[in-house]
Amino acid sequence: MSFKAEYIWIDGTQPTAKLRSKTKIVADGAEPGVWGFDGSSTNQAEGHSSDCVLQPVFTCPDPIRGGADVLVLCEVLDTDLTPHPSNTRAELRAVAEKFAAQEPIFGIEQEYTFFKGSRPLGFPENGFPAAQGGYYCGVGADEIFGREIVEAHLANCLAAGLGISGINAEVMPGQWEFQVGPLSPLDVSDQLWVARWLLYRTAEDFGVSATLDPKPVKGDWNGAGAHTNFSTKAMREGYEAIVTACESLGEGSKPLDHVKNYGAGIDDRLTGLHETAPWNEYSYGVSDRGASVRIPWQVEKDGKGYIEDRRPNANVDPYVVTRLITETCCASLEKAGQV
Ligand code: ADP
Ligand code: MN
Ligand code: MN
Ligand code: MN
Repeated sequence: MSFKAEYIWIDGTQPTAKLRSKTKIVADGAEPGVWGFDGSSTNQAEGHSSDCVLQPVFTCPDPIRGGADVLVLCEVLDTDLTPHPSNTRAELRAVAEKFAAQEPIFGIEQEYTFFKGSRPLGFPENGFPAAQGGYYCGVGADEIFGREIVEAHLANCLAAGLGISGINAEVMPGQWEFQVGPLSPLDVSDQLWVARWLLYRTAEDFGVSATLDPKPVKGDWNGAGAHTNFSTKAMREGYEAIVTACESLGEGSKPLDHVKNYGAGIDDRLTGLHETAPWNEYSYGVSDRGASVRIPWQVEKDGKGYIEDRRPNANVDPYVVTRLITETCCASLEKAGQV
């Protein structure tokens, strides 16, 4: 007997990588081991030397196929078994290890938009739906589009054992959010990539596509972000560390270093309107959804907790955003002796 292993990896498409997957039949009792693929078809190799290596890093039950079948998230390696240039997880591994003693954890809010053909779900054939206002966390067929897909995706994430912590309808029709975490940098990123794969795969059965486009409809419509919530042990224990973390993200070239790696098209979304701060001005504040970084009111009240970096785009690479925040904040906290 055998089971099916769906190998999932991140390709080399620019400027935003895409997910790919293919199936391997594995004998019962065997582990889904190292595998390979044709990198010349994924922007990861040239035709004359096309082999890339799949190194399994995270395995979970496959809720689509069920039974003993599994999903296998992989890192992409070159044939000499060093990380492929598109492999951003390898860089995060090193940083996560360096600062592991500070126990950094992340919760990422993944916003996305359903499309049916060329229009967001809920947009009429001609013109536009009623202006934003009633859709966020709404209920009823006049405001909600795609809930059956969202519920199926949530059930699939839970059946896969992912650390999903909630879902909600967003500000624009057809726009939704799920949250993953709080988990360690590697865990939250691996599980967010698998949750994204499950989103596309679940919606596929409904004839609907999901997109992480940060500004799917131009004009007076909200973009899609990936607010990244972050804390270390010291931040979960006291307010001084919260302030140090917020300040560290504003130091010197840090705002630009971060923003330019927070997802393609970030200047289209971080305009200063629609609950965003302008991409080129760093700010932080309590309860402030117009700031780059928000300190939730409860965190100020309790004098401890976490911060929310509101800048990352929906299409951000979680391996990159968690690496940058861990590096910047944990280095400053270490320097300040707040560990
Ligand atoms: P918002 O009010 O911004 O919509 P959400 O409830 O959607 O907030 O998301 C908050 C996220 O913060 C969740 O993913 C949650 O798991 C995460 N979170 C909660 N506490 C912490 C913490 N101490 N460190 C990091 N992330 C946290
Ligand atoms: Mn949210
Ligand atoms: Mn949101
Ligand atoms: Mn948020």
